Parts: sequence; C-alpha cells; structure tokens
Amino acid sequence: MKKANGFLYKEKVDIPFTSISTAYLGKAHRCMCGCSGNYKYTSQHAKWSGKNRGYKVHPEEISDRAVRGRLKKIMEIPGEFEILDDYIFTKYYGENEDRQVSIYLKKG
Ligand SMILES: [Zn+2]
Repeated sequence: MKKANGFLYKEKVDIPFTSISTAYLGKAHRCMCGCSGNYKYTSQHAKWSGKNRGYKVHPEEISDRAVRGRLKKIMEIPGEFEILDDYIFTKYYGENEDRQVSIYLKKG
C-alpha cells in the first residue's frame, strides 16, 4: 500500500454491487466527460446519481448488467486498484494499459 498524488493503491478490495453508483469504461488518462468512454449507472442508485452529478440519469444510461460486467472486469484485471478518496476504484488494462475501468461508489 502506497500513497502518491492522493491515490491509494491496494491489491485487494471488496466492492459490493449494491454500493455502486456508476461504472466508467473508456480510454485511459483522457477526458472523462463521456467523450472517451461512457458511464453506466445502477438502477438502485440512479436517482441519487442524478442528484450527485447535477442532472438526471437517463434510462439509456442505466444498466445493472453493464455495471456487473464492469465490476467483474475490474476484479479480474491483475494488479493493484488505484483508489481515490475511498470511493473511486480504477484499473488500467489492454495494450500499453490504454484502457481503464473505474467504479464509483455511492457516497454517504
Ligand atoms: Zn470530454
């Protein structure tokens, strides 16, 4: 476990599906507004997620199946999780680690 630039690194983490707000999949180290990837939201926390981001989560952005797939993916990628503020979990993968999957927990 080491700290660098505000990030925490851990080999093992437990991420219950019910704690997840959204899961991002896209190009690594790029703008994360949605132009280089996309966010899929859990149905359970879609309302909260909309309030948290400041605008409503649309039905086409909600997919428990996609979030489960991304959760499975992040768990299967070897190596450490990069953790920011105890609620954003990221791993990089692919050729040159140019892809990333990030899981965001519901805060509070
Ligand atoms: Zn962008």
